[in-house]
Amino acid sequence: MPTDPSVPSRSVPRPVPRPGVAAIEAYVPGKSGTTGGHPVYKLSSNETPLGPSPAAVAAARQSLDDLALYPDGNATALRAAIAERYGLDPARIVCGAGSDELLSLLAYAYLAPGDEGLFSAHGFLVYRIAILAAGGTPVVAPERDLTTDVDALIARLTERTRIVYIANPNNPTGTYLPFEEVRRLHAALPPDVLLVLDGAYAEYVRRNDYGSGLDLVLEADNVVMTRTFSKIHGLAALRIGWMVAPAHVADAVNRIRGPFNLSAAAIRAGAAAIQDDAHVAAAVAHNDAWLARLTEEVRALGLAVTPSVANFVLVHFPDAPGRSAAAADAFLTGRGVITRRVAAYGLPDCLRVTVGSEAANTAFLDGLRAFVRGAHA
Ligand SMILES: *Cc1c(COP(=O)(O)O)cnc(C)c1O
Repeated sequence: MPTDPSVPSRSVPRPVPRPGVAAIEAYVPGKSGTTGGHPVYKLSSNETPLGPSPAAVAAARQSLDDLALYPDGNATALRAAIAERYGLDPARIVCGAGSDELLSLLAYAYLAPGDEGLFSAHGFLVYRIAILAAGGTPVVAPERDLTTDVDALIARLTERTRIVYIANPNNPTGTYLPFEEVRRLHAALPPDVLLVLDGAYAEYVRRNDYGSGLDLVLEADNVVMTRTFSKIHGLAALRIGWMVAPAHVADAVNRIRGPFNLSAAAIRAGAAAIQDDAHVAAAVAHNDAWLARLTEEVRALGLAVTPSVANFVLVHFPDAPGRSAAAADAFLTGRGVITRRVAAYGLPDCLRVTVGSEAANTAFLDGLRAFVRGAHA
């Protein structure tokens, strides 16, 4: 058992982290291996089955020729490529080592001890970690139908609220807020509260009432959008994220980020990936087809599935011995199918399952069918 570092248990003093640090439950990534000799289908981290654009891989390889040189600390080529793709001003784009880094940097820049960071009950776990690590106080708003509830967020605004994080669509629920709801939340925020719209799955969404929030970032002085190359672009291993923000927010984050926070490989590969619209379109098409099919086939087995607009589904299990999410997880793992337990998100009866390749999706559905029929008993 690790001891609580904030409790002095020794007679000789030693460095002790701030109380918020000890309150953090370290993020546990999705599992990636099994013990059996099966092929392993990793459906636990929302990675794309299509992999990265071949152009991105070629670009990353080129960086091997210059490993002795520091990368461009401003990630100029990557910011230019993103700006070009979305019609943005590159001066308002900041890149990060994954969007996780940017979510943390925003908390460090805007939270003082005692300030509150607000997010919703089943929101992405990194928000809580970022807020606590920055010395802030996490405040959680309940959700309605596993969906961010704007009224509940508004009800929890206080004088100390400095930052509000929303993943849209959200992970691990897969649900989304229509753009009008995001606007309604923004309209209720005091102008000195920063709204962070996390669009990690924005590219996957096919709903007319959805908007990632770019328009709002461009017209408001207190809205930031973060995006990632880890999901639809298939570059999770390189750690590339970006945000578009008002100039004053971009300036604040640029002051506190590491001077070389993106590797040369990340800069090159990201710039190539963002230009490969055909690759992204193929990923969207694959996801559309399989998201619908997985949802339908799991429901046909008598299990509830939360309607998802992202590249994963949340499957609900009964809280009964041998039929639970934990039992299903163990059974599927034994067949080489790795899904994600989401108890840490307050969803102990659910598994999150990424839309994978045809072979992986089929292995998952076959495994789940066998589990439900009691083949495991
Ligand atoms: C995966 C994910 C991210 C992206 O993380 P990176 O650090 O860019 O790999 C951000 N937000 C949410 C909600 C995610 O699920």
